[in-house]
Amino acid sequence: MNANGLGLHIVFTGAPGCGKGTQARILKEKIDIPHLSTGEMLRAEAAKGTPLGLQIKELIDGGNLVPDEMIIKMLSERIDQDDCKNGFILDGFPRTLPQAEVLDDMLVKKGIKLDAVIEIQVPDEIIMERILGRYSCMTCGAGYHDKFQKPKVYGVCDVCGGTDFYRRVDDNRATVQNRLVNYRALTYPTIPFFEKKGLLRCVDGTGTIEATAKKVSDLLGIAK
Ligand SMILES: [Zn+2]
Repeated sequence: MNANGLGLHIVFTGAPGCGKGTQARILKEKIDIPHLSTGEMLRAEAAKGTPLGLQIKELIDGGNLVPDEMIIKMLSERIDQDDCKNGFILDGFPRTLPQAEVLDDMLVKKGIKLDAVIEIQVPDEIIMERILGRYSCMTCGAGYHDKFQKPKVYGVCDVCGGTDFYRRVDDNRATVQNRLVNYRALTYPTIPFFEKKGLLRCVDGTGTIEATAKKVSDLLGIAK
């Protein structure tokens, strides 16, 4: 790894709501390496209408999970593209131990070695507080939080002056609890898998977004 962001192959992992997507985007800005979010890639592929895309669209529209082989094929093709020659930042994948194993196989075949798997650690009760407190402006979509990001004037959007707000239906205690339980059961087993390979790096994600980003940069030796 080096400070110029050359040859950095990173995976961000952690519980839902830990901030891994945000950290992946911040790191992408700093080192100019593609941020590969499999969720976004699946939606983009489906929209393109390629044979693979059409298959994916049918699965998603039917409320089904996209099989691992399809995700890995899409990811493999994406990694072969020119802009990934200096590395990539993965987030949202692998989500299960079998996915971690296929990813590992795929990268070995390409002669690519991961540099680090960064686990953003946030206790469940803090994740709950973060998710349950968030809401958005109905007019412009600006995001707020009951505790951490209140509008400057109570009940008025800072960005557009709107006064109507909404909360996502799935941001409720039972749903978040369920996602955390699923994370422990399905995704958490990837942590010891990467630890055994000497790739795991843990970052405390309980502070502000900026504080966590600084910890990630320090860990990777990026001087920004
Ligand atoms: Zn607004």
